[in-house]
Amino acid sequence: MNSLRHLLPYLKPYRTAIIFGSVSALISSGIGALGPWLLKLAIDSIQAGNASHELLKYALLIVGVALVAGFFRFLMRWILIGMSREVELDLRNRVFKHLQSLSASFYNKHRTGDLMARMTNDLESVRSILGPGIMYPIDTFGLAVFSIIMMIIVSPKLTLYVLLMTPVVSVSVFYLGRLTHKLYTRIQEQYSALSDAAQENISGARIVRAFAQEEREIRKFDMLNREYVIRNVAMVKMQALFMPLMFLFFEIGAAIILYLGGRGIIQGVMSLGDFVAFVGYLGMLEWPMIAIGWVANLIQRGAASMKRINEIMKVPPEIAQPERSRMPQEIRGEIVFKSVSFGYEKSEILREINLHIKPGQTVAIVGRTGSGKTTLVNLLTRLFDPTFGTVLIDGIPTTEWDLEKLRAEIGMVPQDAFLFSTTVERNIAFGRGNARREEVEKVSGIAQIDKDVADFVNGYETRVGERGLTLSGGQKGRVTLARALIRDPRILILDDALAAVDTHTEEEILNRLRDFMKGRTSIVISHRVSTVKHADRIYVLEGGKIVEQGKHDELLKQGGYYAELERRQRLEEELEREA
Ligand code: ATP
Ligand code: MG
Repeated sequence: MNSLRHLLPYLKPYRTAIIFGSVSALISSGIGALGPWLLKLAIDSIQAGNASHELLKYALLIVGVALVAGFFRFLMRWILIGMSREVELDLRNRVFKHLQSLSASFYNKHRTGDLMARMTNDLESVRSILGPGIMYPIDTFGLAVFSIIMMIIVSPKLTLYVLLMTPVVSVSVFYLGRLTHKLYTRIQEQYSALSDAAQENISGARIVRAFAQEEREIRKFDMLNREYVIRNVAMVKMQALFMPLMFLFFEIGAAIILYLGGRGIIQGVMSLGDFVAFVGYLGMLEWPMIAIGWVANLIQRGAASMKRINEIMKVPPEIAQPERSRMPQEIRGEIVFKSVSFGYEKSEILREINLHIKPGQTVAIVGRTGSGKTTLVNLLTRLFDPTFGTVLIDGIPTTEWDLEKLRAEIGMVPQDAFLFSTTVERNIAFGRGNARREEVEKVSGIAQIDKDVADFVNGYETRVGERGLTLSGGQKGRVTLARALIRDPRILILDDALAAVDTHTEEEILNRLRDFMKGRTSIVISHRVSTVKHADRIYVLEGGKIVEQGKHDELLKQGGYYAELERRQRLEEELEREA
């Protein structure tokens, strides 16, 4: 229940709406409470033997009361449910904004399906506390208070008997609430698991087919799905038990009133009109009694969901905008790593890295797979921060840079090319929001994707399937290269970006890039000697440490990893030429 406290700030802007909605609710129940009273007056008047026009007056009044009460009920629903949608909008935007601010390590730990479930299903159940969860308590409270007041006026003694039921009802509602919270949390957890399974299978549809694992995946999904139903049925069972229980209490109450009230009429201490009015008010209490259970259920669900949303909202962004950011006078693109060590979790991936890349230099990083190359460049854009040591760009630690400006200076072509499900043009222009077609074409030329695009049915307007699935691996790599180039960055990073294109195309691209890279610092990661041999400096990474460094020729002389790599690739080339 404590988690609901977090909702208060979202409700604040809607104070007026809540007040108007609540007032409408109270007016509606207040006026509605006149109904049974009018009935009593009508019956008393029949018994007094009054004329029928007298009766017509009461009949019209009863209709009038119903109309007015109905109108305010309409206002109440409109205002309060409408408000809950507005709050839902705020909350959803807030969660999305927060998700955008969270760092890469958060996404390492959380699964997509689970986050989606919280953004949709949980948000919906929080919304239902805001609308119905505010509306019904006010509404039923009004109804209950007015009915009880009227009952006391009619017969204090009978009212006392009715109120004897309250403790029983309260205790039941309390236990219902606790149980609901527990059961609903379990349901939502399972829903997350289900979403995850669906999401992974849809994303990985091709892999599942390729490995002919459909049957197994279907069985796995079926099991998750069944468990989801089992947990839901547990909740249904509890509710199914609760409702009749509430009715039972109510009917017992009604029976007692019938007996005692009836005796009162026989003994002449109660008029028939009073008795009918009393039963009418008792009827008005029926709805609040049932609503209490329903609302308790709703609120507990909402609280359980709010807790799940808060779990995400309270994760602080690890990589945040520094409070006081610094910027160099002029951005030159000098990169320094000062005894940088880094680990994703406990184990160290990078150890004591020292680098000095001068502005305008082209530097290459080679090394076995898993040696930490990608990790190293990820520190530059602050996808992660070093565990120890400092990364400086133009003499200022990256952690002190304005985060957005820092990232604006870096054009990153990641190893796993990710594209959005939109057109080729928009994927390239993504690098810079307002890029024009000519600019897109220019960088496409450098990245050598222009000829491919010309062959596409709709040219630059061709939609790439989700995550670029309709492009070849090499095409994706080149689109992501164009996307980085269009940023016109001071620092360009190619993380094995051209691995999926043939050596001939790669050479073409590198030739064109050479022009582009003039005056820019670039870091090129590759497994191919042909890609890196012209670099001003080549670093060899091994187990997260720099083990060799120097120019191509110097490294060949050292006879280490690089020399071995070069020898092997030269042999392969020779074999190919002979074949
Ligand atoms: P490759 O040539 O295959 O791209 P790499 O040199 O780029 O390899 P990295 O991706 O930097 O290697 O990975 C270095 C080590 O860090 C690996 O052992 C890998 O298992 C680990 N690692 C990489 N990314 C993560 C991550 N997000 N969370 C935890 N560990 C990671
Ligand atoms: Mg890598």
